[in-house]
Amino acid sequence: MVVGDIATGTDVLVVGAGPGGYTAAIRAAQLDLDVTLVEKDAYGGACLNHGCIPSKALISATDRAQQAREGEHMGVHADPAIDMAGMVAWKDEVVDQLTSGVEKLCKGNGVNLIEGTAEFADEHTARIAHSGEGQGAESVEFEHAIIATGSRPIELPGFEFDGERILSSREALAMDRVPDRFLVVGAGYIGMELATVYAKAGSDVTVVEALDGALPGYEADVTRVVRKRAEELGIDFQFGQKAAEWTETDDGLTVVTESEDGTDAEFDADAALVAVGRRPVTDTLAIEDAGIETDERGFIRTDDRARTDQAHVFAIGDVAGEPMLAHKAMAEGHVAAEVIAGEPAALDHQAIPAAVFTDPEIGTVGLTESEAEAEGFEPVVGEFPLRASGRALTMDETEGFVRIVADADSEFILGAQIVAPEASELIAEVGLAIEMGATLEDVIGTVHTHPTLAEAVMEAAANARGQAIHTLNR
Ligand code: FAD
Ligand code: NAD
Repeated sequence: MVVGDIATGTDVLVVGAGPGGYTAAIRAAQLDLDVTLVEKDAYGGACLNHGCIPSKALISATDRAQQAREGEHMGVHADPAIDMAGMVAWKDEVVDQLTSGVEKLCKGNGVNLIEGTAEFADEHTARIAHSGEGQGAESVEFEHAIIATGSRPIELPGFEFDGERILSSREALAMDRVPDRFLVVGAGYIGMELATVYAKAGSDVTVVEALDGALPGYEADVTRVVRKRAEELGIDFQFGQKAAEWTETDDGLTVVTESEDGTDAEFDADAALVAVGRRPVTDTLAIEDAGIETDERGFIRTDDRARTDQAHVFAIGDVAGEPMLAHKAMAEGHVAAEVIAGEPAALDHQAIPAAVFTDPEIGTVGLTESEAEAEGFEPVVGEFPLRASGRALTMDETEGFVRIVADADSEFILGAQIVAPEASELIAEVGLAIEMGATLEDVIGTVHTHPTLAEAVMEAAANARGQAIHTLNR
């Protein structure tokens, strides 16, 4: 300990107050443990401050404008103008409400909060440099620690973020004007969501993607629906093009891309968002001093109870591996807290859902048909097209489908792929079905409200049995 330090002790030290860290801290406090949560930046982490919430706020606002623009055939005439600064100010209000809510919830549950950067000094001690210049430091001795330090965007060599020409998602979610020409590097989660935002806000959007399609990892018929709508919105996709270098121009920048067949291309834009993945943050807290190791991709290795190589130190969320999703971080936070409290918890979720908030949205959980086959199941598949849904027609959003995958013999639900408005919500029903060990009959026999999009889930399950009412069975 350094002279002048204040020394405190705690049952559980949680480092990082993102969705993983604050969930773990609150849950551990509910279980009567003495908890100290350290955050160096802002409560809520990447998700609340620069990720999930800001992006969904801008998606909702630009959706509203786009729906007004496209309402003429429904008898709605409007010509909405986008005030980007106003939109970002509203988004900031939403963020502030949620981040102050996290702080209040932590305090209300008795979590001790420290604003500062934690660094391990040894296996049971962390040194915390308080935020703000000259604010001093303290040492905290802990019985258990939970590392929840999250991830940061990958910087392509030569494309270091400058916040002006080369943007990370953080800056792209805080612009005060709509760029005339917006280039997006990477057609993954962030690229596709924010390309849609800026296309709806009025930018000419070009997306360059190294692979030959958008949203790698999702099935082709799912992404086809999203790509078609994105192209209708004016987004220009350049697949098979890898961003290689860029130069500044008088009014923006030129990005040079390379392709495998040697056809290089150049794209002019006012600004470019580079969204080529995220990497775990382990360099802020000297994990080696606590005897913790990472795998070849930099993720902290954990077991099925979220424990690292050191049984008293846990790692959760983005820093502990894929999928880097907020709900996975929160689920791991519960497990770490409960294991520390001596509860029989483990990371034994049957399926973790994923959603992409594009237009329309994608929601998936569990196995696809081919994954089910690869795992030795004989799958049966049911589908329901959105154009046959009364609710989708009344929403004027009929592109997409719900697909349910089940085991042919037992009829246990194995997975679902949904591309539809509100797919992020619809997928929850299938997630619950998988966790509960529900069968096709359970979903079909559940009375669904009419008219709703959720009926499409029931109809897809019925279609798997040749019993759908509102589509012809195959
Ligand atoms: P984080 O949220 O990254 O929090 C880690 C915290 O640790 C940070 O606040 C950091 O300041 C702090 N920290 C780091 N080192 C230290 C230290 N040494 N001392 C003290 N504090 C420290 N996921 C979804 O599920 N749905 C979405 O819609 C979604 N949208 C996204 C949109 C964007 C643009 C981005 C970038 C991400 C999105 N994500 C989404 C991913 C989601 O944000 C992450 O999966 C989630 O934030 C991970 O939570 P975490 O608790 O592991 O880490
Ligand atoms: P991503 O991994 O989803 O996509 C990155 C894309 O960039 C890939 O398609 C890749 O082929 C491409 N790429 C890589 N190098 C390139 C190059 N030089 N030129 C052109 N293309 C290149 O990563 P992301 O979009 O940055 O998102 C990071 C993570 O954040 C996601 O994996 C996800 O975990 C999380 N996230 C989740 C949500 C959500 O849940 N809705 C939304 C946003 C972000």
